[in-house]
Amino acid sequence: MAKEDLECSFCGRKKPETSLLIAGLDAHICDRCIEQAHGIVAEETKGEISDDLEQELKLSKPKAIKEFLDNYVIGQDFSKKVISVAVYNHYKRLLQKKDNDDIEIQKSNIILVGQTGTGKTLIAKTIAKMLNVPLAIVDATVLTEAGYVGEDVEAILTKLLQAADYNLEKAQRGIVFIDEIDKIARKSDNPSITRDVSGEGVQQALLKLLEGSIVNVPPKGGRKHPDQKFIEVNTENILFIAGGAFDGINRNIQKRLNMQAVGFSASINEDAIDQENLLQYIIPKDLKDFGLIPEIIGRLPVLSYMNPLDAKTLRAILTEPKNAIIKQYKKLFEMDDIKFSVTDEALGFIVEKATEYKLGARGLRSLCEAILTDAMFELPDSDDNELEITKEYAEKKLNKSNIRPLKAVS
Ligand code: ADP
Repeated sequence: MAKEDLECSFCGRKKPETSLLIAGLDAHICDRCIEQAHGIVAEETKGEISDDLEQELKLSKPKAIKEFLDNYVIGQDFSKKVISVAVYNHYKRLLQKKDNDDIEIQKSNIILVGQTGTGKTLIAKTIAKMLNVPLAIVDATVLTEAGYVGEDVEAILTKLLQAADYNLEKAQRGIVFIDEIDKIARKSDNPSITRDVSGEGVQQALLKLLEGSIVNVPPKGGRKHPDQKFIEVNTENILFIAGGAFDGINRNIQKRLNMQAVGFSASINEDAIDQENLLQYIIPKDLKDFGLIPEIIGRLPVLSYMNPLDAKTLRAILTEPKNAIIKQYKKLFEMDDIKFSVTDEALGFIVEKATEYKLGARGLRSLCEAILTDAMFELPDSDDNELEITKEYAEKKLNKSNIRPLKAVS
């Protein structure tokens, strides 16, 4: 058959009438029919995202989510459980068929209260890793009300878009971790005396994002690019996790507990209160007394706390998580064919120093670096193929380094 006599098996157009004719086994298809077919495929697979989600949800029941978290986050069982349920419900909400009844499942945004370095960010990161959704980590301290020096709250969504490689669909199902939420607490009980541009004003601005609305987001952020086009981001299905140390909130909790303990209908037995870890008794009212506005508290309905890290937990953090610090060093040395080990005593010593220096979990890494830098510098060039870190070795190297206890600033 002459080339010009070939025709599209779908629409019958002859080759000269098409821009492109592609041959199959026994048939041909023209460019127009390909486009049309593509349109049909796109239409038919519109629901695919929710199919993906359904798949994800099947894989991640609350217990499975918690088990995944267990691989990376040591201790914090209460928070891990609460968050597993919140994340599960969040995804159930996304799958909710709009048509059946009027019951609308509300967002399960989360607020985590606990000292710095206890694993709040780590939990958010691990959840994002598990769900394979984009994560933006933002610091509430840099946010200000629109029009003031600092970042507008919309910058949070710019970050999320960036984390999603500007895939809007993905960004709209992502996770935002807002760190240091306590730093935007209202500074005084009477907000009208002075403008509180980095406190209550920011809380008000955040409300809009938390409750779920369409927000115009400058894709590159900031006001330096005034001519950029805005992207409309719907925050309805974005999961927000806020974290903060809330220094001093123990006093509010203590006061409230005392009142409950002495009242006529005393609901709390004073002796049974664990004074070492008052955060476990936290309720939303304590956040309000600290200076968060009730509307914000209402939009962060899942409240949980982080336990302080004791020596046992710190030690476990060194060796147990999937990517534990000691495992990482082991791997690094292994790449130079060096067998690396740390004695129990040395581990105990590192934990002791981290506690003494008030460095918490964050300090474990700097301590290990200080102890191991010499070895990492020398050994790759030497004939030694074994390194055992003993307490004495660790002590000697640490004395040489400039890591010192943190002193309170007076
Ligand atoms: P936060 O957000 O509470 O200030 P992070 O989550 O950033 O603290 O923790 C800092 C680092 O300390 C983490 O990268 C992690 O290595 C370690 N860490 C803290 N808490 C834990 C924990 N419970 N389990 C495992 N590692 C932890």
